[in-house]
Amino acid sequence: MGYSVPTPEPFAVAVTCIDGRTHEPLVRWVREQHHAQYVDLVTQPGADAVLATCVSDICDGIRERMCVSVTAHASRVVVIAGHDDCAANPVSAEEHRRHIVEAVREVERWNLDAVIVGVWIDADGVVSVVDPEREFALD
Ligand SMILES: [Zn+2]
Repeated sequence: MGYSVPTPEPFAVAVTCIDGRTHEPLVRWVREQHHAQYVDLVTQPGADAVLATCVSDICDGIRERMCVSVTAHASRVVVIAGHDDCAANPVSAEEHRRHIVEAVREVERWNLDAVIVGVWIDADGVVSVVDPEREFALD
């Protein structure tokens, strides 16, 4: 008695560049910050820029893959990452942060049953939340 079956830890989903430097730090961060056991990855070169201006078939593909995680794995956190030294989206850190904010706003419009979080991954692999209020207050 007194024994209870542990509740399975939930899944989360992260959308990031194909860049291998981003994956391990991002997965670690999502597991720690959102208590997810498993982090499904949707990878796309320059994912932040693709989602920020979501007009292409590529964006639809990201959405489809993300929805598999949200639907089949009940992921309740969607993390969207941009990163330093991105080959597919070679813009300044400031521009990346704008893309991340715009990407979060776009994905919020999809009405997934999930919290959408934008993060920046710097050159050292440090992951930090991109706060929309703060980004646009700097204008
Ligand atoms: Zn990249």
